[in-house]
Amino acid sequence: SREWHLVARPQGWPVPEDFALVETEIADPGPGQILVRNLFVSVDPYMRGRMNDVKSYSPPFVLNEAMTGGAVGRVVASGAEGFEVGDHVLHMLGWREYALVEAAQSVKVDPDAAPLSLYLGALGMPGLTAYVGLLRIAEFSAGDTVFVSGAAGAVGSLAGQTARLKGAARVIGSAGTDEKVALLTEEYGFDAAFNYKKAPVAEQLREAAPDGIDVYFDNVGGDHLEAAIASLRVHGRVAACGSIAGYNATGPEPGPRNLGLLVGKRLSLRGFLVGDHQDLRPEFVREVGGWLAEGKLGHRETVVTGIENTADAFLGLLRGANTGKMLVALPE
Ligand code: NDP
Repeated sequence: SREWHLVARPQGWPVPEDFALVETEIADPGPGQILVRNLFVSVDPYMRGRMNDVKSYSPPFVLNEAMTGGAVGRVVASGAEGFEVGDHVLHMLGWREYALVEAAQSVKVDPDAAPLSLYLGALGMPGLTAYVGLLRIAEFSAGDTVFVSGAAGAVGSLAGQTARLKGAARVIGSAGTDEKVALLTEEYGFDAAFNYKKAPVAEQLREAAPDGIDVYFDNVGGDHLEAAIASLRVHGRVAACGSIAGYNATGPEPGPRNLGLLVGKRLSLRGFLVGDHQDLRPEFVREVGGWLAEGKLGHRETVVTGIENTADAFLGLLRGANTGKMLVALPE
């Protein structure tokens, strides 16, 4: 079996040499454990933060040990009651082919209810993030005009479409290529979208939302956040979900220069972590699962094949190589 180790802490942008694919022995499951053959492993932006030796909500990766992250796989041996060979589970020991998992720290998933990859994307952590951020954190209500950054990504594409399905007056998205922008307006039903690399965000947002916005779902930070603050209307709300524009910065980035506007416009800017909002999961699965089954929700995946390509998939994610959820498939 092969597993990925972080062997050096990246300074700025990570490079392939920061990672190493290592051969290991496959162990038999002890009591309460299951041996899982991973079928999909997830690479996610938050993993960049875990590569720094900094205390945060998610602890740093330990150098020269197996990296971790979301994964789905098939149970191939079981020492745990209630888990049979052939069951499929979602767990946190990704970045490897075979995982010895404490069964209590895994969740069974049904491959007949949805394709397995969806449990890492639209029906999983990113999907719940979009749902929580829009509905609970930004307190979206029908009639709002909503701006979503990173809108062609896993979280952003669901945040924008959830707003549309729940009666937004107007949904605007930004993304980093013209193909992604076209996908937003032509397939996902965004009312307007723009390529943030082509002209200043503030300018393009003003054009796309001449009457301003009520909600900003922030995946990016930086100039996107500053532009949103400028365009927000009185009592506008920001769900601070991520700030990927700064994840490879070597020092603190300058904040929005227009924070003074928060007062007069009575804006609220609220950060959140999806892990604190698991109580919304049943409602999320019912509603978003329903939309997916009815074909009301477009979603894409970018699937890279082979454990040896996991680090490259992660590096690609940071550069925007993905449309929708970035995943690594490990076919048997
Ligand atoms: P995505 O699928 O959106 O992939 C990341 C995308 O970020 C890339 O495809 C790229 O798209 C975009 N990007 C990269 N660099 C920049 C930049 N400088 N400016 C603008 N866009 C950039 O990832 P996720 O959907 O998994 O995550 C989206 C955000 O949500 C991240 O910030 C992540 O950290 C956050 N998050 C937060 C959670 C929470 O609990 N708060 C939970 C899960 C995710 P493009 O081509 O458009 O540039």
